[in-house]
Amino acid sequence: MKEVILCKYGEIILKGANKAQFESILLKDVRRRAARVGNFSVSYAQSTVCIEPMGEDEDIEEMYRQAKHVFGFVGVTRAAVAEKTVEDILRVAAEYLPERLAGYKSFRVEAKRSDKRFPLKSPELSAEVGGAVLSVMPRLKVDLTTPEITVRVEVRDRAAYIHAGQERGAGGIPVGCGGHGLLLLSGGIDSPVAGYRMARRGLALDALYFESIPYTSEMAREKVFTLAKIMSEYCGKIRMHVISLTHIQEEMRDKCDEDYFTLLLRRFMMKLACRMADQCGATALVTGESLGQVASQTLAAIRVTEDAADRPILRPLIGMDKEEIVVTAREIGTFETSILPYEDCCTVFTPRHPRTQPVLEKVLEQEAKLDVDALIEEAWLTRNTLVAEP
Ligand code: ATP
Ligand code: MG
Repeated sequence: MKEVILCKYGEIILKGANKAQFESILLKDVRRRAARVGNFSVSYAQSTVCIEPMGEDEDIEEMYRQAKHVFGFVGVTRAAVAEKTVEDILRVAAEYLPERLAGYKSFRVEAKRSDKRFPLKSPELSAEVGGAVLSVMPRLKVDLTTPEITVRVEVRDRAAYIHAGQERGAGGIPVGCGGHGLLLLSGGIDSPVAGYRMARRGLALDALYFESIPYTSEMAREKVFTLAKIMSEYCGKIRMHVISLTHIQEEMRDKCDEDYFTLLLRRFMMKLACRMADQCGATALVTGESLGQVASQTLAAIRVTEDAADRPILRPLIGMDKEEIVVTAREIGTFETSILPYEDCCTVFTPRHPRTQPVLEKVLEQEAKLDVDALIEEAWLTRNTLVAEP
C-alpha cells in the first residue's frame, strides 16, 4: 500500500493574483527539504501539496516531521493512496485504518470528491467507508457529532486518499513572501522566538549577533549559532553576522555616565544593524523586545533606541508576557539552549541604576562624548559571517 504526505495550504488560498508566486516559493521550500530527506516527488493540486516517496525505504517519518515545519501549511497528514474506484477505496480503508484508529473509541468519516464523475456522492461514500472500518474494527462506535477521530476520504484528480488524524501545520505564509529582515539575535529566550514569529509571517532572515570578547566568550557565540541552526529548521538558511562591540563598550565605560551604558549600547547596535541591513538587503530590523520587560524596554527607552535606526524595527513580542514567549521557545526547541548561562554583551558593564525614563537629549549629550562615527567604522571592520543550516 502506498502512503503519501498531504499538506493543506493556509492563507495562500486568499492571495488572489499573488497566489502563483507564493505557491512557487512554498514548493521550493518543500522540495529543498525533500531533497535532504531522500527521494520524494512533490506535486500540488487544489490547494494541497502531495509529497510522495519514490523509493521503497524512504524515511517518510522524517519527511512528515519536516512538512510540519513548513510555513504556509495549516494541516499535514499521512494518507494511503487508493485507485478511484469504490472497491479499491474500501479495500485500502480496511487495510490502512486499523493502525491509525487504534486506541480510539469513536470515529466518523468525511468523504469529499473534487472529481464529480466519481459514482458515489460524498455522504454515500462516507457511509460505505464507515461500514468497511466497522467490519474490521467492530468495537469502534460511529459518532457523527463529537467523534474522537475523523477519517477523511478525498477523491481527487489523480487518486483517492484516505487518512485519519490530520495535524496542524506550522501556519503562516511561506518564508520569503514577506520580504527580508535582519534579526538581532542574542543568546536569550526572546530573540529566537521573535525571529520565528516574523519568519512565520513570510520574512526571510539574516541574523546579527553582537559580542564583546573577552567580556563575552567564544562559547556564547557558539550558543547563538546553535540557536540560529535550530531556527533554520523552520526559517531556512540563516546567515549569522557577528560584530564586536568590545572597544565601543570600553570607550563608554571610560567616558560616559554609567546610568546610560545600556541605552548608548543599544543605539550603537541599531546603527550597526542598519548598516548590516543595507548590506544584506533587509528592509526592517527584528528584535525580541517586550514592553516593560527590562529597563531598556520601557516606552521611553524604546523611543531613544528607535531614534538611532533608519528603518522599521519589528518587535513581534512587544505585547507578550514572558510566560507566553517561553511556551513558543519550548515548542520550537530553542528554550534549552537559550537558558545556558553565558554572558551577553548587554550584561557587560551593566549600570546599577539604568535610566528607565530616559530623555533623548540627555542620551545624545552622553553620546557626544564619544567619537561615534569612528567607533562604528572600527566595529564594522570586525564583522564576519557564519551560515546556519539545518
Ligand atoms: P533576549 O532574550 O532576546 O536576549 P532580553 O530580554 O535579554 O532579550 P535585551 O537583552 O534587552 O532583552 O535585548 C533586547 C533585544 O535586543 C533582544 O531580543 C535582541 O533582539 C537584541 N539584542 C540584545 N543583545 C543582543 C546581542 N548581543 N546581539 C544581537 N542582538 C541583541
Ligand atoms: Mg538578552
